[in-house]
Amino acid sequence: SKARGRNCYQFFSADMQEEAQHKRRLLEELRVALAEQQFELYFQPIVALNSDSEPMPVHKAEALIRWNHPERGVVSPGEFIHVIEEAGLIRELSQWIMQQTVETVSQWYQQGCANIQISVNTSPSQFNDGGKWIDDWIHALALYEIPAHSIIIEITENVLMTTDDSIKHQLSRLQHRGMDVAIDDFGVGYSSLAYLQQLDINLLKIDRSFIQPLSEDQDSVALVRAIVTMAHHLGLKVVAEGVETEQQWQQVLNVACDYVQGYIVSKPMTKDAFYQRYLSQYQQ
Ligand code: C2E
Ligand code: CA
Ligand code: CA
Ligand code: CA
Repeated sequence: SKARGRNCYQFFSADMQEEAQHKRRLLEELRVALAEQQFELYFQPIVALNSDSEPMPVHKAEALIRWNHPERGVVSPGEFIHVIEEAGLIRELSQWIMQQTVETVSQWYQQGCANIQISVNTSPSQFNDGGKWIDDWIHALALYEIPAHSIIIEITENVLMTTDDSIKHQLSRLQHRGMDVAIDDFGVGYSSLAYLQQLDINLLKIDRSFIQPLSEDQDSVALVRAIVTMAHHLGLKVVAEGVETEQQWQQVLNVACDYVQGYIVSKPMTKDAFYQRYLSQYQQ
């Protein structure tokens, strides 16, 4: 059994080695990807639920990163964002995302869509630079002459968990400058409801895991209804994330969510596809 134990150990060890090697290779590739601009922003519409006009006008979209890998094709952020974070490359990537976002908004403005808002994801570690990243945004917005209101900054609940005063300060700076702030994946983090009242936030995005059981489960309807009621009392608008079915659509309408984002409307798509499908009608 001793020999067997050793075999087990060796097997496990080889596995871990492979894992580490895989990660190193991935990181190498990601450095190249950053240098060679292999990333691309996709856009997914966020539609107002109270609108019954046809076709639905789209004024909001979330920017979602994709990696156009030379061999593997389109790679999802779930496979690489954490590696970028761990390697300390998030500032570089965030700057690229910001640059692409302002360029895109500026282009759409010039094409006549004056009230589009793009929602941009942030990584928790971005907030560690004391707010320099906000200066970058202010600079970029001024350079491209687009109003701050065209940008929504999405932050996850976990960012708010730190007792660090700097976070509070950074959020109020964003607001002061006219950008909107959304809490992403609401409900899955270790959140206290207190911060919703203390902080200056515009939007609450209810995580998909609360939305998907809506069709079968009355308890989850009650839960989402309670979140929406609370959010509205605090003056926040609510986005239901991950709506896929007609039933879920009906339920989020019933509980008075303000916006829907999900496959039922559309999957994320390239910038050009998004413009063609949702914005070209506004072209002047
Ligand atoms: P997230 O911010 O919660 O983004 C929503 C994710 O849900 C997206 O996955 C989107 O494609 C997916 N989704 C939207 N509607 C539906 C639906 O109806 N059903 C299902 N099953 N999924 C839906 P994606 O694009 O793979 O992004 C995954 C995560 O990666 C994001 O979750 C976000 O945390 C992160 N991420 C994406 N883009 C960026 C970025 O530019 N910067 C940073 N820091 N993180 C990003
Ligand atoms: Ca998000
Ligand atoms: Ca605001
Ligand atoms: Ca989300």
